[in-house]
Amino acid sequence: MAAVKNSLPRRQFDVVVVGAGGSGMRCSLQLAQAGLSVAVLSKVFPTRSHTVAAQGGVSASLGNMSEDNWYWHMYDTVKGSDWLGDQDAIEFMCREAPNAVYELEHFGMPFDRNADGTIYQRPFGGHTANFGEKPVQRACAAADRTGHAMLHTLYQRNVAARTQFFVEWMALDLLRNEAGDVLGVTALEMETGEIYVLEAKQTVLATGGAGRIWAASTNAFINTGDGLGMAARAGLPLQDLEFWQFHPTGVAGAGVLITEGVRGEGGILLNKDGERFMERYAPTLKDLAPRDFVSRSMDQEIKEGRGCGDGSYVVLKLDHLGAETIQKRLPSIREIAIKFANVDPIKDPIPVVPTIHYQMGGIPTNIYGQVVSYANGETTPVNGLYAIGECAATSVHGANRLGTNSLLDLIVFGRSAGNHIVGTHPEKQHAHQPIPESAIDYSLDRVNKIESRTSGEKTQDVANAMRMSMQHHCGVFRTLDLLAKGVDSIEGVAQQVDNIYFKDKSKVFNTARVEALEVSNMIEVAKATTKSAANRTESRGAHALSDHPERDDENWLRHTLWFSEGSRLEYKPVTMKPLTVDSFPPKARTF
Ligand SMILES: Cc1cc2nc3c(=O)[nH]c(=O)nc-3n(C[C@H](O)[C@H](O)[C@H](O)COP(=O)(O)OP(=O)(O)OC[C@H]3O[C@@H](n4cnc5c(N)ncnc54)[C@H](O)[C@@H]3O)c2cc1C
Repeated sequence: MAAVKNSLPRRQFDVVVVGAGGSGMRCSLQLAQAGLSVAVLSKVFPTRSHTVAAQGGVSASLGNMSEDNWYWHMYDTVKGSDWLGDQDAIEFMCREAPNAVYELEHFGMPFDRNADGTIYQRPFGGHTANFGEKPVQRACAAADRTGHAMLHTLYQRNVAARTQFFVEWMALDLLRNEAGDVLGVTALEMETGEIYVLEAKQTVLATGGAGRIWAASTNAFINTGDGLGMAARAGLPLQDLEFWQFHPTGVAGAGVLITEGVRGEGGILLNKDGERFMERYAPTLKDLAPRDFVSRSMDQEIKEGRGCGDGSYVVLKLDHLGAETIQKRLPSIREIAIKFANVDPIKDPIPVVPTIHYQMGGIPTNIYGQVVSYANGETTPVNGLYAIGECAATSVHGANRLGTNSLLDLIVFGRSAGNHIVGTHPEKQHAHQPIPESAIDYSLDRVNKIESRTSGEKTQDVANAMRMSMQHHCGVFRTLDLLAKGVDSIEGVAQQVDNIYFKDKSKVFNTARVEALEVSNMIEVAKATTKSAANRTESRGAHALSDHPERDDENWLRHTLWFSEGSRLEYKPVTMKPLTVDSFPPKARTF
């Protein structure tokens, strides 16, 4: 082993999983059950990860309510992705879905039930029967708390399997050797302020989304894209970050999510004239068209002067569902509406606006969750590194994710990555590879620089400047001019990030230190997003350019790869070939 210069405490594991959301805990369960030594790190207690907030459901073609099959689900997902999703990964996910959901059922997840005892399923945007003919009920639900039920089920299973949790630990940087292999992470124990080296034969990033780079977001405060920042600093590309989903129904002014399940249960969107305007934009699927479609239609209504109240929102009406259905199927939604919008939806409609919700892009992986690099037309797995869940671009969601396909993505690819790692037999490799001191020093220097600064910019001022800039330049509708200004503006903010300081230098549970480190991750995501968006001169899925309203398959049916060094862009082909079935060729996307 190389001479040890720094005196950081070290721990060794077969596998380190960074993140205890649905994806991280589905993966760790597979690993712990196989007898590997697994450390799962989380900035918060595991059951407080953002997965807990998922409301509407998890998709699988169980066919409990009417006929359904995985091939229809696959078609809907390809079309929903506006053909940017990789069709091998989409086939894999949709085929695995029923098994993955039944497995959760057998783990004890408390799904709602039909009278015959089967899992209750509700309709959700973009999910159809027979290739777009009519909506189908595919979202398996536990009231409007599906993520809560899933996360608690997985946590309990992990406790039983003796997964080791490192609660309130923040991973800082990936540790790579000269060959580029990943050998673990540096991590901050928040309670003591100590930094550790966690050595691992395999490292899994499961750090969730980065929706907090916008001012108006449905995301938890911890969703700061740490895994993306770590990957970017380690020289790895970030894929398709121009594609961010605006959820149509965030509570106006508060951003808190009102699940699409409300429209699944029969809720409808109205403009100030009381018109159900989605009938005009999407005659077949109406309020249940995919999210990018509904968000743009709402924005259009508001821009054309048909917004409600002060003109800045539309309303979601559900009183016609009746008090009993609302209380049984949507109890938390009623609570949110009363608390955050001051309306009781049993009587009055909820004011809503499109709000940032989900990142389709992320760290590129294959269907085993292995992170892949791309050079000279070749895709190669990075030794020792996996990414799963929202932080990964596998890429099943392409340019737009269908509702309930994310919870599915977590369990399918969490499990798949776990199985792949078990197959590499890390327990049989006797020693951990030596970690170069330079990799550890890089991470320490980075923290020490922020730590030792005694003047400069305040973390919250810089974070707010970034969020306002993203909100202004990178909204539901974009123009090339606005995006170019966004690139410059975010570059300016990035310089401020290099000058962040905080006054309180104490070690024990110093949240100022954590927040400063989070901003250094968020800015990588903001840079990747603006740069990738400003270069894509077409409209596809969630990336809607007013000055280039058409999709351009000839030039742009390809994935964006952004590299932090020099903010460089590259492109790689979309995998159009599924695993076993025929490809779905691109066609116009109408609903
Ligand atoms: C309000 C809301 C409702 C949603 N509803 C649905 C729905 O009904 N159906 C659906 O399919 N999808 C839904 N989604 C999307 C879906 O819930 C998320 O995409 C998914 O839960 C993300 O899971 P994850 O495992 O990737 O990460 P998360 O659940 O976000 O967990 C991330 C984990 O990483 C940890 N972490 C992050 N950074 C670090 C670090 N530096 N060091 C250590 N740990 C770290 C965190 O502590 C956390 O444990 C919803 C999303 C939101 C915001």
